[in-house]
Amino acid sequence: MNLPSVQFTKEQEEFRVEVRTFLQRELQKGTFQTKCDSWLSGSDPAFSKLIAEQGWIGLTWPKEYGGAERSSIDRYILTEEFLAIGAPVAAHWFADRQTGPLLLRFGTEFQKKLFLPKIVKGECFFAIGLSEPNSGSDLASVRTKAEKVEGGWIVNGAKTWTSNAQDAHFMITLVRTEPVSEKKHHGLSQLIVDLKSEGVTIAPIRYLTGEHHFNDVFFDNVFVADDMVVGAIGNGWAQGLAELAFERSGPERILSTFPLLNETIEELKRRQDINGLAHAAKLVAELWSLRNLSIGVAKVLEEGGEVGVPAALVKSVGTKFEQKIPEVVRMLLDVYPHLQAERDLDRFLAESTLHAPGFTIRGGTSEVLYGIIAKGVLAR
Ligand SMILES: Cc1cc2nc3c(=O)[nH]c(=O)nc-3n(C[C@H](O)[C@H](O)[C@H](O)COP(=O)(O)OP(=O)(O)OC[C@H]3O[C@@H](n4cnc5c(N)ncnc54)[C@H](O)[C@@H]3O)c2cc1C
Repeated sequence: MNLPSVQFTKEQEEFRVEVRTFLQRELQKGTFQTKCDSWLSGSDPAFSKLIAEQGWIGLTWPKEYGGAERSSIDRYILTEEFLAIGAPVAAHWFADRQTGPLLLRFGTEFQKKLFLPKIVKGECFFAIGLSEPNSGSDLASVRTKAEKVEGGWIVNGAKTWTSNAQDAHFMITLVRTEPVSEKKHHGLSQLIVDLKSEGVTIAPIRYLTGEHHFNDVFFDNVFVADDMVVGAIGNGWAQGLAELAFERSGPERILSTFPLLNETIEELKRRQDINGLAHAAKLVAELWSLRNLSIGVAKVLEEGGEVGVPAALVKSVGTKFEQKIPEVVRMLLDVYPHLQAERDLDRFLAESTLHAPGFTIRGGTSEVLYGIIAKGVLAR
């Protein structure tokens, strides 16, 4: 990997302080409660609206669509601060991270003008409709189909594990617009489905914690107008791959359990447990290295470079790291994990332990990523 190292500018350090101060103040006011894995399971539309009021959604997007035209490093700093404090940013996460960049790259002018300003205002959330009951890693086998009718498409099928569909207004949905041929990556397209449309049913799938975070989404003769096709019909596979680069390498693949690590270090300091702190220091050193890789990928992405392999690497190593934190904490401290515990440490451990199995599955399983890395290295 040949990733650049990034030095933050004075302005960027000041921006970090501004974001951190705001979040600390809101935490103290009781606007939110710190939570592990908050970027995916902490959905709070009112909090997303508050973030939008600061101008912090669509930070890198063009001003003509409501964005702030700031750098991807600024956005990296912003998301790092959200994750470090465990703020409930899940409602707008996909729209900000994925849908906006997708529409900027492949969307029509009509779509950009319709959706981007609403996303920026925290008034429009998106879900990601890729996985199906029999298609996960092997996404090209999706069977949800869209058939051409006058003025649009009729969609039938089902998506599963759809995060936050219950709060989302629309879903970028990968569908088959041509029958399966020998080249199964062909004939796929991306449609923007209005989740309030007639024929859409959203059914919760409960987490191990009992929380309602993801869903089954069923389509029964759902009409989608022609102007809701993203990019070109038949180009869905290539467009989806471009989206995955934004999905895989961000700080959310390293920091999902950071509130637990942070609280553990505070507790070890209170106890003056030098041995425990030495173990925690190893985790911090690992985190620092992963973070540098992740920031390097963000920089290359901003410059339009190819990041498929490094993004897969960061995701596979980063998510194993996130999973390791609750394992190590259990050995270091006498914690009593409970989701309703009063002590943060106990609650964070319960959240981290119960959410951790999903870290190496969501966004592409580790095994699939190893395949991408191996093929990428062999192709050099
Ligand atoms: C918390 C969470 C949130 C999610 N949110 C969303 C969402 O919002 N939208 C969405 O579309 N999906 C979402 N998903 C689904 C996720 O993308 C899929 O679960 C994932 O891609 C794996 O697909 P699968 O579950 O069908 O498993 P499978 O693909 O059936 O895999 C089963 C096992 O086989 C292994 N395997 C499969 N293929 C290979 C291969 N080629 N080589 C080696 N091993 C292989 C896998 O690594 C895995 O261990 C979410 C999942 C989780 C856990």
